[in-house]
Amino acid sequence: MATVTRSTELLPIREKVLAGERLDLDDGIALLESDDLLTLGDLADTARRVRGGSDDVFFVNNLYLNHTTICRVKCKFCAFAKTSKQPGAKLWDIDDLVEHAVTLRRTQDFTEIHMVGGENPHLDLGYYVDVTRALRQALPDVHLKLFTASEIHHMTKLSGLEHEEVLRELVAAGLDTLPGGGAEIFAPRVRKIIAPGKEPAEYWFRVHRAAHAMGLRTHCTMLYNHVETFEERIDHLLRLRDLQDETGGFMAFIPLPFHPQNTVFERRGWTFTTGADDLKMIAVSRLMLDNIEHVKAYWIMISTPLAQIALHFGADDVQGTVVEEQIAHAAGAVTPTEEKVEALVHLIAEAGRVPVQRDTFYRELRRWA
Ligand code: SF4
Repeated sequence: MATVTRSTELLPIREKVLAGERLDLDDGIALLESDDLLTLGDLADTARRVRGGSDDVFFVNNLYLNHTTICRVKCKFCAFAKTSKQPGAKLWDIDDLVEHAVTLRRTQDFTEIHMVGGENPHLDLGYYVDVTRALRQALPDVHLKLFTASEIHHMTKLSGLEHEEVLRELVAAGLDTLPGGGAEIFAPRVRKIIAPGKEPAEYWFRVHRAAHAMGLRTHCTMLYNHVETFEERIDHLLRLRDLQDETGGFMAFIPLPFHPQNTVFERRGWTFTTGADDLKMIAVSRLMLDNIEHVKAYWIMISTPLAQIALHFGADDVQGTVVEEQIAHAAGAVTPTEEKVEALVHLIAEAGRVPVQRDTFYRELRRWA
């Protein structure tokens, strides 16, 4: 009976979804406050199908790299960053990094490199440009998805150039798209608590807006379950939706659950999200972001079993093979650091969906019937 009552509460939102109407801040908060998980999943899956989604579920064969763990910012939620004197501090020599990637390519047929790192104060723009060019020359057919908006902003500080100028140099060296990291939660109140040393959200938007204006496609994220309110989560999604209305440059949204291990939040008693938290956030993201085509179930942080269920809660992408993930694992992720193509195909098929291997632009490379 309780479920029926709660479902009735979401009926006005269901009517909006079926009519293709846009959901607003109050709708988003009502969805997050609902405990009716199955209705949320059904609504999100319905929204996905109403907007033209099919049973296709995508993944990419990709390689994760981190060129440096050294970072000046000290975000309180981060277990990855090191000062240059701490154990684990690392800065890849460019030749070694490229050789490492080339060696891995001999056995793994990845089509994309996803590379992010700390805001290392000891670098200059030349390092970023040179590493991009070196990867491009060594692996000309691999898509380069490199550097968060925070790192691009860091490069403007290192070089004195504008965001557009930095992006132009990187694109000339071989950059193809930007990942979505550095977004965290946009609300200033939250950023002040969790990342007081990080630039305001306006810079994240400036970088992505500039990238879109140059024809670069990008990704967007949200790190949830730390100090933010439901209203601040929905505000974050609405800000992304607004930019997408303006530019259409985002390809996918990735909700990232906060992992507290090895951060100050662990000592203060924060815990990992539950499966219900994660499924709810994926469903609400799918419902609110009516203009971003893909929502990812990021198996690295939510586990492969939950990613399977998430495919019925609005997600249509399980990210990729990854290989060597370090950031989530530093913060306590207990998932493997890579999955093989066969495992992802099995995961998707067993969830009753059609596995489709994609390139970074969601062009189909292979389909499993
Ligand atoms: S989240 Fe990024 S910017 Fe913040 S401390 Fe970690 S590596 Fe540095």
